[in-house]
Amino acid sequence: MPTNKLSENVFQIYFKKFGSCVYVIKIGKDNILIDTSSEENGQELLDGLEKLKINPRDVHIILLTHRHYDHIGNIYLFPNAKVYDESNINELALIMIRTIKVPGHTKDSLAFLYKDILFSGDTLFHNGIGRTDLRESIPEKMADSVNKLKHLDYSFLAPGHI
Ligand SMILES: [Zn+2]
Repeated sequence: MPTNKLSENVFQIYFKKFGSCVYVIKIGKDNILIDTSSEENGQELLDGLEKLKINPRDVHIILLTHRHYDHIGNIYLFPNAKVYDESNINELALIMIRTIKVPGHTKDSLAFLYKDILFSGDTLFHNGIGRTDLRESIPEKMADSVNKLKHLDYSFLAPGHI
């Protein structure tokens, strides 16, 4: 489970087997995860967090870009985490992280902007955009959502899959 340092306090964990990347933001004592990959990557995710010296009990916030199985498979490993997705994201009291609603890949997809890093989930990848042919997709909204992201002021793209 290779880990990449994206900035002083932001890390990427990615996997050989299918499943989303997991991003870790450390803000003060808070450990925030963006997505949790697929369940079969659970042990590797824990290994990656250990490398970053993070105990699963000390993960306090999980932000979900959307609820596909390859992004939500390991929520259960973090008993003290409050999980946020599109349905309750308004309750998130973390002003440093901006939430952007990006319907398209799914009707409830979110992206997150933290400093100059854009976490785009399955909406925008390094070399294209996410699928919109799924049952839960809203293809007619995808172009608007991708445009919204492209106009944000970011320097690093941190997509759901690399
Ligand atoms: Zn997806």
